[in-house]
Amino acid sequence: MSYKIPKMTRKIRDSFPYAPARPGLWKKISDKKWNDWKWQLAHCVRSLEDLERVVSVTAAERDAFHRSNELFKMAITPYYASLMDKADPECPVRRQSVPHEGELHILPTDLEDPLAEERDMPVPGLTHRYPDRVLFYTSHVCAMFCRHCTRKRKVADSGSYAVDKQLEDGLRYIAAHKEVRDIVISGGDPLCSSDDRVEYILARLRAIKHIEILRIGSRVPVTMPQRITDRLVKIFRKYHPVYFNTHFNHPKECTREAFDACARITDAGCSLNNQMVLLKGVNDDPALVKELNHRLLLMRVRPYYIFQCDMAQGISHFRTPVEKGLEIMEALRGWTSGLAIPYYVIDSPGGGGKIPVLPNYVVSHEGKKWVLRNFRKQEFTYLEP
Ligand SMILES: *Cc1c(COP(=O)(O)O)cnc(C)c1O
Ligand code: SF4
Repeated sequence: MSYKIPKMTRKIRDSFPYAPARPGLWKKISDKKWNDWKWQLAHCVRSLEDLERVVSVTAAERDAFHRSNELFKMAITPYYASLMDKADPECPVRRQSVPHEGELHILPTDLEDPLAEERDMPVPGLTHRYPDRVLFYTSHVCAMFCRHCTRKRKVADSGSYAVDKQLEDGLRYIAAHKEVRDIVISGGDPLCSSDDRVEYILARLRAIKHIEILRIGSRVPVTMPQRITDRLVKIFRKYHPVYFNTHFNHPKECTREAFDACARITDAGCSLNNQMVLLKGVNDDPALVKELNHRLLLMRVRPYYIFQCDMAQGISHFRTPVEKGLEIMEALRGWTSGLAIPYYVIDSPGGGGKIPVLPNYVVSHEGKKWVLRNFRKQEFTYLEP
């Protein structure tokens, strides 16, 4: 997958390494096939036999596979699998994609629908929680099933209900609700659908008079960058403003392939943002998050949210204390560009929406006097008139 980049910016692109050489299982596959997203999607690693040919599977992973595959299937694109460390089960790419014994421990406090997305569905497949925007699920498929997914139960459910009828019902609801101006097109992954279906959805939404913002929520720049073709971004271009939110969690995911995919999206005029999920053992480290955010900015991806890992079932082994998120935010603000600083939010259980959590910068406040502290913990007083 080549991308024509202006000469002066080539050295930035060159600092992004290509994915490592393909594992044995795919050595004989032609570049043409490898770079074709439909081939990637059709050849996801779904069995232990295939996984064994990509990494050295540990006994614990084998056991976790057998015990979790009924509940939440494994599916890893060949591209993403090629980023995994063969020997290290703690590899951040592996932790996000290979079953782990932690998934089997369901805590009594875990929730089946942690964000109450089902409760706030006026029609199936559409969550209307905020005054002026909706979350619209247009696909039940993902390129890869992330082990930390909050919609675990839904994404793997291939026997999903009449998706087309659901789409039309959702479009009718949006057309009838003039207060809705921003649509988050999500899933599953909306870009696991064909170009024609993506265009159909964008065109139908853009035709609705009161719709201002179209937003695509997709992880394919990370898990299957081959999906971002010139043909696809040409479609985005027709329906602007189209925003794109993606989901990078670790600097290891910032490959040359991902760089090119992001460049296509932004060159097509989309604003590209990142929603990271804070995951224990993957990215719960201030220096690592800073590095990730710097890589993202070089790809013209703006860090938008850091999500506290939610209370979905079978992901408790990924949850960090909230203090960890605060520590990360404290280590960013002031110490690096504001551009590299997202909001840290907790998507509240029970459907309260996203709530930002910030280190406390207000030392005291009495009448017109505000005592604040800066990133170096020095105090300053601001007086209101
Ligand atoms: C996250 C979310 C949105 C979009 O929220 P922003 O803060 O605007 O990014 C909309 N609806 C639902 C249900 C959501 O969970
Ligand atoms: S791409 Fe998103 S919806 Fe799909 S499995 Fe990963 S986190 Fe879940």
